[in-house]
Amino acid sequence: MFYLNTKIFFGAGAVSQGKEHIAALGSKALLVTGRRSAISSGALDDVLALLKELHISWQVFDQVGENPDLDTIMQGATMMSGSGCDLVIGIGGGSPLDAAKAISTVCANQLGIDEIYHTEKFHKAYPIVAIPTTSGTGSEATQYSVLTDLRSGKKAGWGHPLAFPRLALVDPAYTLSTSCEVTQNTAIDALSHLLEGLYCRQREPLIFPLIHKGIALIVQHLPRALQNPDDLPARAALSQASLYGGMTIAQGSTSLQHSIGYPLTSAFGVPHGLANGIVMPQIMELFWDAVGDLVTDALASFGMDRPGFLTWLSRLGLKAEMQIDEAFIRRSVPEVMASRNMANNPLEISPQQIASVYRSLMR
Ligand code: NAP
Ligand code: ZN
Repeated sequence: MFYLNTKIFFGAGAVSQGKEHIAALGSKALLVTGRRSAISSGALDDVLALLKELHISWQVFDQVGENPDLDTIMQGATMMSGSGCDLVIGIGGGSPLDAAKAISTVCANQLGIDEIYHTEKFHKAYPIVAIPTTSGTGSEATQYSVLTDLRSGKKAGWGHPLAFPRLALVDPAYTLSTSCEVTQNTAIDALSHLLEGLYCRQREPLIFPLIHKGIALIVQHLPRALQNPDDLPARAALSQASLYGGMTIAQGSTSLQHSIGYPLTSAFGVPHGLANGIVMPQIMELFWDAVGDLVTDALASFGMDRPGFLTWLSRLGLKAEMQIDEAFIRRSVPEVMASRNMANNPLEISPQQIASVYRSLMR
């Protein structure tokens, strides 16, 4: 089945194209943002101009950091319930967009901090509008929200159909202000999502053409965007690929590729996309017997093969600052094995195989 409960406007002026749809969603908006990017990308100015025109009032919650934590969600939900907002607009990278989804469900269902992951208690949600300023997570087109519990130090996601944004307004120009580092890490995140659409046990062949196109767009346009950050067509290609990545994981969810990266982010602060990227060759190797033909087809669709892809990836020079030791591996392997995404792997994976992937990063 292919299911996506989001109206998507893509391209220059996407925010104003969504005008009449926003007008129908609410009368007071909570704007959920990071500390700077909503402003530096130009997205906030566009949204405020539109809200003024529509006579929709707003309140800003700009406290969302990278890898949003449960306490931040509760603060945002408290602001929302005290301010009479009936619409949530997330503006930023995946972190503010994921926070917007959680604030909406927590506030609508009056959940406590220990109930944020209890999706069986989700009976309603305030409408969510997602305006991405990075090109990586595809969160604007998914039902997922990835959060960190600071008490346990664990990062994990939840998903619920009510968390699909009602509107995704994707203007690639908002990504022009991202640094090369964020551009690269987020593109690698999108690449992970697209590959995981092939790896996933519940893969949806209807979306394979978008997966093929998305991988091709990243391989062809990421080097251009890194060389010239002002190259808008290259930025647009990455935003399109990111959106396809979101549409892909919305159908089948992520797998080991993501589960193995979360502890690297929680323990060493490795950015999400980079955490996926540094294990990408190892995961492809682990899954090759089950999905090698699907990956081969995807790469062949734009004239590439596996060795060519691995060379392209290694040229990016992905590197992360980490102090992986046996204690980290002993702690993290059970966490990875217990993660919900492991059910999506195309074949059985043992704790020893996960430990070997981590050990490969010690060299
Ligand atoms: P992010 O954590 O949202 O942002 C990373 C950094 O980039 C922040 O410092 C942010 O600044 C900055 N930034 C964002 N847009 C910018 C712009 N246009 N110009 C300048 N700086 C900008 O990064 P992300 O990779 O997009 O999101 C990662 C999160 O999404 C992770 O928690 C990941 O697990 C999650 N994720 C969710 C899904 C899903 O389906 N829901 C899928 C994959 C990943 P500010 O702090 O000022 O905003
Ligand atoms: Zn991801």
